[in-house]
Formats: sequence, C-alpha cells, structure tokens
Amino acid sequence: MLKGYIDEIFVSVQGEGPMVGTPMLFVRFGGCQAACERCDTPRARTQMSQFVIHGPSPETLLNPVKVADLTARIAPKLRTLPFLAVTGGEPLEQPGFLSLLLTRLSETGRRILLETRGFHHRELAEVLPRVDVISADIKLPSFTGRPVPMEETRAFLEIAKQKTCYVKVVAGPDTGEAEVINVARLVADVGSHIPFIIQPRRDEKPPPPGEAERLLLLAVQLTKLLPDVRLIPQVHSVLGLR
Ligand code: SF4
Repeated sequence: MLKGYIDEIFVSVQGEGPMVGTPMLFVRFGGCQAACERCDTPRARTQMSQFVIHGPSPETLLNPVKVADLTARIAPKLRTLPFLAVTGGEPLEQPGFLSLLLTRLSETGRRILLETRGFHHRELAEVLPRVDVISADIKLPSFTGRPVPMEETRAFLEIAKQKTCYVKVVAGPDTGEAEVINVARLVADVGSHIPFIIQPRRDEKPPPPGEAERLLLLAVQLTKLLPDVRLIPQVHSVLGLR
C-alpha cells in the first residue's frame, strides 16, 4: 500500500491569488527540496514522523500514512466544502502518493486545487487528469537566492495551461522589477490568458513607504505583456486564520 508524508490538514479560506476567500480543506504535504532562502513554510520542508488534523478535536497520525487511512479522514470533511487544496511543502515530490490520493477522493466530486512551485513538469503530467486548478507559485531569485529555472518552468506551464491555472510571484522590497518582468515574459510566451498575480511579501518589518505604490506601478507595467495582472495580498493572516 502506497504511503506518503503529510505536514498538516486544516480547514481555512484560500488566502492567496484569484480564489481568495473560498473555503477549502487544505492538505499540506511534508517535504520540499527547493531550499528557498525565504521559505515561508519551513516546517513543511522536512518529512516529519507525525502530522496533525486540526479541528475541534485535533487528531495526530503517524507518517508515512497510507492513502486509505488518509482518504477515510479527508472524505467526510469534504462533504461540506467545495474545494480540496493540496499544498506543501511540495506535493509533486510525492507524485505516486498524490495521484492515488486524488483518484480515491474523486468520488467526493469536490474540485481540486494544486499549489506547487511550478517546477516538476513530469510529475504534473502524471496527476493532471485529477486536478482542476493549478497555482504555479514561481519563486523569484530574491526569494530563493538563485535564478528561476526557466526551462523547467516553461515545460511546467505548457502542461498546466491545459487546465485552469494561474501564476503567483511573491515580491518584497528587495525584489527587482527585472526578475518579475522576466517571469511575466515567459508566462506571456506560454499563454497570455494565464492570470499573473503579484503578492506582496509578508515580512516581520512593515514595508518601506511607497512599496505598495511600487508594486502597483509594476503591475500596471506588466499589463503590456499580460491582460490579467493583479496585485493581491495574503488575506487568511489578516483574518487570523491558519
Ligand atoms: S518551494 Fe515552498 S516549501 Fe519549498 S523551500 Fe520554497 S517556499 Fe519552502
């Protein structure tokens, strides 16, 4: 029986991108090899020995968990929710486990959102039939500390555009316009219909004066390349939700 690593499971609203505010069940996969310098989910980078299903009566389960055990816990929770969001960590680092989980959950009839860093294109092709929406969270050099892998990103988007998909980049005060434009050009080349979201980075320090205006100007500039560019901050943190 196929097993995999989960980091946590919880109900919240989608806090990022064009689906913001939609209630979802989040299944956060454990493990990610990307090693971004500014990783915002550091615990989920490591495959832990157990994980928690949050809720009124939290439940702790051991990793690696069987698909059957996970499905038995998730399916009842999905009865009252329109979407399952698979996030990470990096879900596409466990493609066999993910594919089988989504196959089993397809009986619930719920829509599936896959959140990924937009790199593992072969693995995306494997799970594509089971996914409805893809959020390609492309990590910029000011976030990772290294260049964007343009070849893999292009290959990923070529597959992702067969479904509803959007691209999201997180930009902070140290993010240069050129690195955002570089990714936007690639997206425009693959599919100009793909929505492009700039998400202001949530730092410990408040942003310097004029940062929101700078990102707004950048968004306006990008509309020359892409018709659907949006500047959307994270909202679940504003609401005090997980
Ligand atoms: S891809 Fe996501 S989980 Fe992985 S290191 Fe980067 S920010 Fe962290």
